[in-house]
Amino acid sequence: MQIPSIKIKYSFNKETEIFLDFLHHPQFPQHRNMIFRAFKELKIAFNKKNGLEEKLIIKNFIKNFRKKHNYKIKKIINQSKKLLKQNSKKALVRLGLLTDYQWLKNENYYAFPTILPFSPYKKNIFFFSILGAIYNNKQHNILFVSIHEISHFIVYKTLKKFYDKKISLKKESFYFLKEILAPVIMNQKPLQSLLKIRNYLGNPFLRYIFIINKNKKIQITTFFQRIYEKARYGGKMDFKQILEIMALLIFSIENELIKKNKIWNQYGNDLINNKTAFKKYCQPIKIEAPEQLFNRSNRRSGRC
Ligand SMILES: [Zn+2]
Repeated sequence: MQIPSIKIKYSFNKETEIFLDFLHHPQFPQHRNMIFRAFKELKIAFNKKNGLEEKLIIKNFIKNFRKKHNYKIKKIINQSKKLLKQNSKKALVRLGLLTDYQWLKNENYYAFPTILPFSPYKKNIFFFSILGAIYNNKQHNILFVSIHEISHFIVYKTLKKFYDKKISLKKESFYFLKEILAPVIMNQKPLQSLLKIRNYLGNPFLRYIFIINKNKKIQITTFFQRIYEKARYGGKMDFKQILEIMALLIFSIENELIKKNKIWNQYGNDLINNKTAFKKYCQPIKIEAPEQLFNRSNRRSGRC
C-alpha cells in the first residue's frame, strides 16, 4: 500500500488568506463569530477600522499574536511533528483499509498550523488549529485533525471516481455527508484506539440532529455509524458501496438537512440558548427503510 506523508508547513500569507476567507465565507457565516469570540481584540480592531484595509489588520494581528506566543507555538509544532512521525503511517494504513482507498505515488498532504479556532481544508492542504494548545485548553491533536481531514479527501475522491454525475448532492448535503463520515470512520476500532477517542460525534453542529427510523430516535452520526458497520461487517460491502448507500440516504433527507443548516448558520454555538430555534433543530428527521438501499447495492455488485 502506498502511504502518503503528512508534512507540517507554515505560510504567513496562507494564514492571512484563510482568516480573510472565513471572515466572509458565504457557506459558513458562523465562522466569523467564532473568530471574533476567540479574539476580542480583533473584533475591536475591525469595529474601528478607520478605512484601514482588513488584510492589513489581519496581518498585524497574526504577526503580533505569533510573536507573543512564539515559544509555545514552537513547542506545539515540535510535538506535532513527533506525533506524526510516530503514528501517522500507522493511522493512514488503517484509514486506507477502512475506506478501501489506494493512494497514488505522489499524493501527499500538507498541514499548516493556524491560530484560527477551527481547522479548515483546501484540496490536499489542511490547516490545524493550535489555538487551544496555546491556551492550554483541551484540543484535538495533529493526528486526530489529519485523519478527520484526510477522510474528507477520500470521501470526495471516491464519490468523484465512482458516482460523478450519478449522485448529485447539493453542497450542504455533501458537507453533511463528509462531516458524518469522518467520525463514523474514526470511531472504528482500528482507528479509535490510536486516536484515543470514544463515541466521537463529529463537528458540534451534528450533535443535536436526530433521525427517526422504525420509531426509534437516534443521533445522526450514530445512525450512520450503524449503517457503516452493518454494511461493512455484516454485508461485506466495500467502501464505495457504503458511500453510495449513505449518499442516497443523505439525498433522501436533503431538504431537511438544508433547513437544519440554515438554523445552525443563524445561531451557531449559541443555538442551545435559543429555545424555539433549538427545539426546531432537535426535531428528528424521518428516514424510511434504509434496507431497500442495501438490497439495491447487493444486486448491483452481484451483477458486475
Ligand atoms: Zn470536517
